Amino acid sequence: MCNAFNKKFIDEAAKAAENSNHNYIQGNTDHAHFMGEAIKLAIQGVKNNDGGPFGCVIVKNGKIIGKGNNKVTSTNDPSAHAEITAIREACKNLDTFQLDGCTLYTSCEPCPMCLGAIYWARPDKVFYASDKKDAAKIGFDDEFIYNELEIDLSERKIPFKQISRDASLKAFKIWDEKDDKMEY
Ligand SMILES: [Zn+2]
Repeated sequence: MCNAFNKKFIDEAAKAAENSNHNYIQGNTDHAHFMGEAIKLAIQGVKNNDGGPFGCVIVKNGKIIGKGNNKVTSTNDPSAHAEITAIREACKNLDTFQLDGCTLYTSCEPCPMCLGAIYWARPDKVFYASDKKDAAKIGFDDEFIYNELEIDLSERKIPFKQISRDASLKAFKIWDEKDDKMEY
């Protein structure tokens, strides 16, 4: 991503965050306030060289219980997207693996990985600000992953080949027959 884009994004995001706060002060909605917090995290993350320009907060009963920004490049973790980071923090704080009663605010429409994580975590609702087309314009194009979902496994860019199914099914059998398992 080139610096001109970077600068433009930061300026626009800062303006958006200011507007969000302005709306909040005027008493419009808490949603704009919490989205403003997510956008602030996105901007701070870029300034800190944490990773991409994405931020997320998770709210329960009017309080932020988890927050995160993209830390892919600073932590060498390709899964350290803002939403995943926030979900991990929220679940740790709540001491649970489910986000019942929570609302997730993400500065950009979630990628397929985060979409999956959100569904597994089961918050009540998701708000997003910029969308995947906006992200694609600055070099974060996840459209190819959505496309991969549609095609045959053998035709994927990363080849998927099935082996050792019977051996693997033993783990399923043990789970299936376990009386004291914690279902989720
Ligand atoms: Zn993501």
